[in-house]
This record gives sequence, structure tokens and C-alpha cells, in this order.
Amino acid sequence: MPRPFVRAFLASFTSSIIVLAARPARTQSGAPAPTSLVGARTPAALGALVLQRFATGTPEAFDSVYPDRFGREVVRRAVQQKATRRGDVSRAVWRDAHRAVILLGGTVVSESSEDDANRTRAFSGLYEAVDSGGRWTIARKLPIDSGNAIRAHTLHVTLTPGKGIRVTDTLALAVGSPYGFTVRLNGRARLSTVRLDGRAADYVFGGNVLWVRAAPRRRAQLVLTYTLDEERPEGGDSTQRGARSAAPAYGAYHNTFVWHPFFEYNSANDLAQLDITVRLPAAYHLTTSLPQTETVRDGVRTVHGRSQEPDFLGAIIYDRDWRPETTTVEGVRLESFLAPGFPYTHDSLAAELAPVYRLLSARFGPLASRYIAAVEDRAIGASGFRVRMNDAIVSGSRPRVLSDTAYVPTAAFAHEVSHAWTMNATGPAANFLREGWATYCEALALGMRYGPEAADALREISRAGYLSGPEGRQSILGDPDNGRLHYAKGVWIFSMLNTIMGDSAFDRGMRAYMRHLGGRAGYEELIAELSRAAGRDLHGFVMPWLTEKYIPDIRTEIDGQRVIFTQVQPGATFELPLDVELATAAGPVRRTVQLAHRADTVDVSDVGAVAAVRLDPDHHLLIQRHLGEVVRFAVHAPEAKSVTLLGPARPTPATRSGDDWVVELPLSEGRYFWAWQIDGHVDEPGTPGGAPSHYGVRVVRPLVPVPPAH
Ligand SMILES: [Zn+2]
Repeated sequence: MPRPFVRAFLASFTSSIIVLAARPARTQSGAPAPTSLVGARTPAALGALVLQRFATGTPEAFDSVYPDRFGREVVRRAVQQKATRRGDVSRAVWRDAHRAVILLGGTVVSESSEDDANRTRAFSGLYEAVDSGGRWTIARKLPIDSGNAIRAHTLHVTLTPGKGIRVTDTLALAVGSPYGFTVRLNGRARLSTVRLDGRAADYVFGGNVLWVRAAPRRRAQLVLTYTLDEERPEGGDSTQRGARSAAPAYGAYHNTFVWHPFFEYNSANDLAQLDITVRLPAAYHLTTSLPQTETVRDGVRTVHGRSQEPDFLGAIIYDRDWRPETTTVEGVRLESFLAPGFPYTHDSLAAELAPVYRLLSARFGPLASRYIAAVEDRAIGASGFRVRMNDAIVSGSRPRVLSDTAYVPTAAFAHEVSHAWTMNATGPAANFLREGWATYCEALALGMRYGPEAADALREISRAGYLSGPEGRQSILGDPDNGRLHYAKGVWIFSMLNTIMGDSAFDRGMRAYMRHLGGRAGYEELIAELSRAAGRDLHGFVMPWLTEKYIPDIRTEIDGQRVIFTQVQPGATFELPLDVELATAAGPVRRTVQLAHRADTVDVSDVGAVAAVRLDPDHHLLIQRHLGEVVRFAVHAPEAKSVTLLGPARPTPATRSGDDWVVELPLSEGRYFWAWQIDGHVDEPGTPGGAPSHYGVRVVRPLVPVPPAH
């Protein structure tokens, strides 16, 4: 999912290891060059053709008219999932003699409008079409936000629990694009007013995008009025489902519901002042996910939230049973919205927050908003703290732990708290800047509470999760949507930067980067600020971690008084400060060697004869490791028909041995979460009735040479 900040640990990290590991590899379609695309005689005919193939074509037929790999993936997935596709709108919104801009909007019909909007996001939008000898073809997708900006939303919302919301959004805009103003909005919104600078506007709405004809102007005001039905979310308490006739106890309009317009989860142009006023029956409490005040009059509660720093999408969560409480923790206003059955009290959350906030604010500066809402969101089901929306950290109704070191080390609450520092990161590496950062901070919090081994354990488990999935398949810049990659590789990138720069320079660089948040704050700004703080250029170190699908795989060869280090991974060469331990007659000798080429030769004549070289003995770097163990996993399952081992590697079928099932795997030194899938069923920590012998953690020592993982 895009920017829901759905985190993955414990409750879901283990399952995400499993689920993602079990997911088939992404099939990359061979992209024909645009010139080989099928075209049409006019831009309008081309739009109609693409839309028709989006709705009814095979993936191959669609690919033959449409070049963007992410949009192609929308159709491919929809076909795999047998989901209905709908072509909603196409319109040539601009043209000159040989170029045109076409709006295309479609929907992959889903159970919820939230899924509609997010599944189709990579398709619906603006496209550049070009004419070559009377044949128009799609040249490329255009960024939906280019030239335009949303500076502020003033939202007035009337909420009827169980029924829906009526919204008036007054947007302060800047229009710089010659192609009008285009935003994303939940496709099931029923628009009644679209007024631009006081006049009824020419607009097109469909496929979860709204296009408004607008000439460039520095300031404009767009007023939208619409209604949206309330949907009972999938994860919600089943007693609430289908209970639309009776007023439900709780409900939510999450940011990912796209209940008001925005551009894109990673855009810098829609970071806006949010001012949200919600009126609802006084029996209910509500959070706007922002610092807020409220009044109650004549049976109506009016809640007014206002962002202290720019945000891109608001969130509304309400519940009749909450007992809101507010205290000040380390200068931050902590407001909790918890129902009586929630396993943690306000005071226990405050006690959890205080040391984490002290740690993070001492290193990276205080929070600009000085406000945190801790929200029990029954609409997301029985999970724990796992989502951040603006100033709200959001939990399902059954967090098992706030932090823990059993199995997968987790500091879920700290993770969500720490999002505040980089949440407005932008650009294609935004999810790395958010989730890698939050997981890095989670490791800091674990280290503070349980000692450095706990922080190491989180990184090691993340490494195993990374190797069993994204390695060789995905890169951070090539796969920008929120996924395991951004957590598991991201925690390593931030940890490596911290290690090679030291706390003082790293913290200074991060603080300088954070001053960019609210505008363009992507990986370029991060690298520039970290380089400045370090006093040296870190591009060469950072970039391969973002652009490459493979981590470094370094082989060594001892050649007399020299050691030759060769990087054998496919793709680019990494610049690495590599710690090595040289085995000599006088005992082990530590060195740090600077790798910068495919092969680097290092003179070791000063230490005498070198018998062996051990790379990165302290596990400071995310690199392939060549020592490990052959690990035997066995489970007693006499009745089982099929058994697969998940976690340490890609899913591995077990072989039957009497009443047991066995997998033998060479694993490199590290720490691995594992779980058995027995006849399709997976137990994991906390599974009610789950068998502890069906999952666990294995620490693998550096005993024998093993082939590189995966
Ligand atoms: Zn997160």
C-alpha cells in the first residue's frame, strides 16, 4: 500500500515475511519502445483506444498501446485477480500540432473505494501523446502534480455515523501547468459543486481523478462539495459489518481513503495547511489526526483540527466508547483516544513515549507540532500500533505488545512515534525515508531499552527478510511504493550511515535534512545534507543502495602480500568502508579498507602472511556473507499432506522423513525468523491456538563456507 504507513513488524512483519515470500516474482513485461506502440489517428481516438484496452484487453493488448510499467502492472494484477476493470474517462485536455495531453481514468473495481483509488493510482492520470506522421501514440505518463500546488485545505465535514460524510473543501491552489489542475479523489464521491475562483468550473471526474480546466495563475480557490458513503472496512470488527441501519459504535475515514483531494503520496506539491472542522453527534468522540479543539452544543460535537506543519491528507476516526485523555509528556501534548477494553492505559502509553521522545528529540530535534494523538482505531481490527496518520499514531484494538524482543524484536509504538521526523519526505525514495527511518529509530529504541543486541537482532531479522524477498528483484528507486524493501533495506541504510558518519555528524546531517520537510525533501536533499555534515561527498556510498537490486557480494583473494577484494554482484559497484579481520601468525588484525572499484587491491605486507580474511565481522554492512551453517529444520506432522518452510529463504518445500518433515538449508551467519506452512496454514507468534513448534528464530553462526543467500 502507498502512504498508509502500514508498518510491518510483529503482528505483520512476520506475516509479511511469509506473505511476501510466498508471492510470486513480479513479472516484468518486456516494454516495447514507444514507436512500436499501436496508435490512433487523433488524441481523442487514442484516449478511447487505451481506455477500452484498459477495461477489456489482455495485458498484452494493453501493453501494445500503453508504455508505463507501473500502469501495465495495474492491468496485469487485475487480470491475475480476475477483478473487473472499468474505463471511466478519457479526454484530450491540451494539444498543439504534434503533442497532446490526455487525461485517462479507470478503476479496478474492488470491495472498498479505498482499494479502488489505490489500485488504480498508477494508471489514472495525465499522459503525453505524440503525433508521428498522423499516428498518435502515448509517449509517457506525466506527473499529476507538475506545475501545480495545493497550499491549503479548509474542510468542513458533516459526519453521520454509519451513513457517510458531506464535505466542503476550499482549496488554496497555485496553477502553473498549461494542462489544467488534476487531483486524485475517492472515485465514489458524489460531487455537487466544483467552483474555481467563484465560477462553476469545467471539470471531468472519473477513475479516481478530478480534472478542472484552469489557466495558470499564482493563486486560485477551488471549492468542492461532495458526499461519500461510509464503508465498513475489511479489518473491522465483524459485529459491525453490515450494520449500516443501526448507528455503529465507531468508524473511520483514513488518509488512504482519499476522502479529500491530493496529488500523490510522494509529492512535494500537496503538502498543505490542513484545517478540518467536523460536526457529528455529541455521543461520539473524533480525532482529526491533527492538534484539535472541540465544543459541544445542541447535541452536536464540533471538532476543529489544524495542522502545525504541512500535511497532504487528513484522517478522521471516531468512536462512541473512547474516553479521551490528555497529558503533557516531555513538552509534547499526548492525547489518547482509547476505549475501556484497550489493553494499555493513557498513562502506560505516556510512560512508553517519554524515553523514546527524549532519545529522538535529543538527537534529531523536537517535534514541530508538539502533539501526538494515540488512537485506538477499531476499524482496522485486532492489530497493534501499526499506522501513522499525520499527528496520530494508530493502533488496532488488540496490541499484544508495545515493544518486545521475543521472536521478531519490535518497538511498534516507538516506530510510529518516530515517523513524525521524516513523514513529509518526498520523491521516489519517500518510503525509504519514512519506513527505513522509522525502523532505524525502532532499533535505537530497542537498543535503549534492551541493549545493543536487540537493535542488532532487528537489523539481522530485517536482513533475512530482505534476502528472502526483494534482493535481486527490487530497488528502492525502481519500486517506490511502500513495501518490505523500504523497511528491511532502509533500516540498514540509515544504520550504515550512522555507523560510518558517527552520531554527531549523522545527527547534524539529519537535522539539516529535516529542515527541508514541507517542501522538496527527497533522497537528493538527504545526501546533500549528510555530505555537508560529514565533510565529504556521500553520493558514491548512498546511491547504489537506492538504485541497485543487489547488495554487495565481495570475494577475497590473498595474493602474497596483497589482498584483492572483488565485487561480484550484478549491477553497479559500491563504495564501501569495509572492516576486515586478517588472520595472521600473530593473531587477528583488524583493518578498514575502502572499496571503490570492481576490484580493489590492498597491501597487507605490514602484518606478515595472511591466512584468511573475514569480511565485516561486526555486521556493520548489508552485504552477502560467506560463512554460516547448514541448518536442519524439522517438524513433526504425520498427518500433513504438504509442508513448506517460510522465512529464512524463499518458500522451500519440506521432504517427508517418517512422521517428520525436513528442510536442510545453507544459511549465512545471521538471525532468521522461520515458520512452517502446513497444508496451507501458518502459525506465528500470538496465533490463537498456534503451536510454538511451528515457528521460531534461528541464530546462524559463521562456521563453514556457505553459498551466498539466494
Ligand atoms: Zn512505519
